[in-house]
Parts: sequence; C-alpha cells; structure tokens
Amino acid sequence: MSNPLTIAKFGGTSVANYAAMQNCARIVAGNPGTRIVVVSAAAGITNHLVDLAHKAMTQDQISEVCQAITDIEYRILNELKDKDSVESKLNDLLDEVKKLAFHEEILHRNDLKDNLLSMGERMSSLMFSAVLAEQNVTTMNFDVRKVLRTDSEFGCAAPQLEAIRENAQALLKPEIDNAIVVTQGFVGADDEGRTTTLGRGGSDFTAALLAEAIDADVCEIWTDVTGVYTTDPRITAAAHPLPELSFEEAAEMATFGAKVLHPATMEPAVRKDIKVFVGSSKEPEKGGTWIVKDCENEPPFRALTRRKEQVMVTVKTPKMMYAQGFLQQVFGIIAKHKLSVDLVTTSEISVSFTLDNPANSVAQRLNRETIADLETICDVKVEHGFDLVTVVGNHMQTSKGVSSRIFAAVSDFNLRMICFGANPHNISFLVNESDSTEIVTILHKELFE
Ligand code: ADP
Ligand code: ASP
Ligand code: MG
Repeated sequence: MSNPLTIAKFGGTSVANYAAMQNCARIVAGNPGTRIVVVSAAAGITNHLVDLAHKAMTQDQISEVCQAITDIEYRILNELKDKDSVESKLNDLLDEVKKLAFHEEILHRNDLKDNLLSMGERMSSLMFSAVLAEQNVTTMNFDVRKVLRTDSEFGCAAPQLEAIRENAQALLKPEIDNAIVVTQGFVGADDEGRTTTLGRGGSDFTAALLAEAIDADVCEIWTDVTGVYTTDPRITAAAHPLPELSFEEAAEMATFGAKVLHPATMEPAVRKDIKVFVGSSKEPEKGGTWIVKDCENEPPFRALTRRKEQVMVTVKTPKMMYAQGFLQQVFGIIAKHKLSVDLVTTSEISVSFTLDNPANSVAQRLNRETIADLETICDVKVEHGFDLVTVVGNHMQTSKGVSSRIFAAVSDFNLRMICFGANPHNISFLVNESDSTEIVTILHKELFE
C-alpha cells in the first residue's frame, strides 16, 4: 500500500523560531505521505497584528509594534542557509505590514484588518518553505487564497466548500506530485479576491478543509502538547494525554473550548472520514492522540473543557406572560446576527442565555449589535465574568449516576446555568471566572485521577 496522503499543520509555537521550524521540517521530510504543509504565523505575530488592527495607537507605537514583528521574522531569516533568496520577499511582506498598519482607515475597515492579519501566515510560509528546502526536499510556497474561497465576513469568514474543492483539485493537487506544498493557515479570499480570515486559531480548520478538498487520508495537527489531554494541561498538571478520541468527542471538546483544536476543525474530518492526529512538534517520538470515527471504548467521562470570556444575557419583559411570540422575537434577533447560544434558561418573565465573547473578535461586535437590537423590544441585562465548563463523554443522559457524580463534586460552587441532556456527549455549566480553575481541577480529580 502506498503512504496515506497526509496534510501536516504546524501551529504558532511550532514555527516560532528557526530551531522549532527545523523540528517541523524533520517531521515532514520523515513521512513520505506528507505532501501539503499548513503553517500558522510565528508565535506572537498574530497578536501584534491584532493590536495594529484594533487599537488606536500613536505613530511611534505603531512603529514599535512593526519593529517587534520585523525582529521575530529577521531572527528566523538570519539563520537560513540560503538567506539571500528569501530576504527581498520577506522585506516586501514587511513593507505591506507597515503600509497597512499606518493606513488611516485600518481601525474602520474590516477588509484592511484581514489583509493585515493574513501577513503572519504569509511570512511564516515563506520562511518555512526555505527551512524545509534545507532538508533536501523539493518545496513550493503556495498562496492559499487561490484555493480557499470564503464568504466576505471578514474576521470570521465561512468556507465555500464546493469552490474550495474545485480550486484544490485544479490548482493544488497537481502540485503535490512535484513538490511538498507549503501554504498558509487561517487565510482565505472572497469571490472578489479580497483577503479574508477564518477567526483566531483558524489554521487547524484550514488544514482540515484542504484535507477534505484533496481527499487526504490523514490530517496532522502539530502543536506544543503531546496530544489532546483530559483537560488543558495549563489548568492542572494532572491532565494526561488521550491516545484515542472519537470524532464526536473531539468535536465537543473543540466546540467547548479545548483550544488545541479550532472549534470547526472536526467538521471536514467527519464529512470525509479523515483521521486526525494531534502531537507535539518538539517531541514527535512521544506519539499523540488519534481522532477516529469510532473508538474501541466509549467511557461516560472523557475530558473536561473550559471556555473563557462568556457573557450572560437576561432579557425580561413584564408583558411576557401575555406577549405571544416574545421568545420567537428574541431568538429571531439572535439568528439575524448569526450568533450561537450555548445555554438557555427560561422563566415566565425572562430568558437568559450565554454568548461567547472573546476580546477583539467578530463575535464581540455581533454581540454588541444583538444586544442593541434586543434593547429595542425588552429590558436587557448583560453580566460579564463567566466561564463555561463542560464535561465531555458518552451516553451521558442515559448512564446512571453521571450527573450526581459531577454535581456532588462541585457542590460548594455557585453554578449560574446548567445544560444537561441536550446532547449525549456533554454536560455544561456556567461558573464565575474566578472559580473555574478550581472547579476543573476538582472535577478532574474526581473523574480522571
Ligand atoms: P497552536 O499554536 O499549535 O495552534 P494552541 O495554543 O492554539 O496551539 O493550542 C495548544 C494549546 O491548547 C496547549 O498549549 C494547551 O494549553 C491548550 N489546550 C486546551 N485544552 C487542551 C486539551 N484538552 N488538550 C491539550 N491542549 C489543550
Ligand atoms: N495565526 C492565527 C492565530 O493566531 C491562526 C492560528 O494560529 O491558527 O489565531
Ligand atoms: Mg491553535
């Protein structure tokens, strides 16, 4: 059998510097099945670009941030064996960064913001193909915008699957016979050729979308942890890697805040039954997590996730008891803004729901617009400072003792909202952000240690 066709994606810390890029290049060169490489921006770059795109700064401050970006890229450039062939291309990209950063409309035009945000991936793919070429393989740096068609929702663009497939089959697939193709995660282009981005952490999603479009067998996500863990190892050192996960479990984890996978990563994998591997680019010998359609065992408790920066919105109308269709109006407004609501409770005169509200995100802007619309029909209270904690597992509504075990363990804490039973794979609750680390640690001890 020939080697399974593989797409390898390397995240920000994996391409943070020359030495880290070399680890990744060895992983790619060591697997003859790997024909496409998707890279994120080097660690720190996208955060700098987000600052430039969102914060009002003085000219000096803008220059300082541009210099910080230049320094990160030049540290990599200066270690390249064949620096001369890359330097002028890098300088062109850095000039583009500066031009956009100083553009007088940058804080007000979403198309310019996305153009600026895309620069990190455009620079790192240039550098990574040079590092990969040092492993004596033929490489090419491919502009993903030729293939990854999206709508025009700058900042959280949605992929257009048919166009992506068509473009990938016509333009990308022929290239992989001749070279290992290095391309950019996170970035796309709309019908008019304007640059778009898929939302923070979107490079995982890019890799899965390209895997789907070229009928790959495996999508590897190389990052800074040795797989998907029982919970974020930054929350508790007792977290441990999981050798295997099902598509459903991984999708729940990604949706509910396991940052190691962008929330939408599993969608293309599920559609095309593509195996997903998660491992550490620094320690590939340690193996990692295989995410597959069906796992051998389906334990009731598999993992815990936390999603930070949640807001709780309570809408209230004294007329609700009589006002037919109030709920419909509320959810109509939410739907109009394409928001997804995770937890909902209703009482006779009020409805409360939670919204994901990360800083400087498109979601945050949409939340603001939604709340303004809701205020035209009812009283609205918005409370900040919550995290969403989710227990991920299997058969959770039908297994005995599942909820009692969870809720007994966290009985000392105030749970503001609970969602149990809407889905066999999760139980979620909203907690005060100051309690969430302790809650996850205690629950982890109860369920996984
Ligand atoms: P990359 O830049 O490679 O995309 P990310 O920072 O986006 O990396 O994701 C990796 C991080 O995800 C880890 O460092 C870890 O802190 C966090 N994380 C959250 N939940 C989990 C989990 N369940 N398992 C592993 N890592 C997790
Ligand atoms: N560079 C982008 C970000 O930091 C995308 C990614 O890393 O996946 O959000
Ligand atoms: Mg990531």
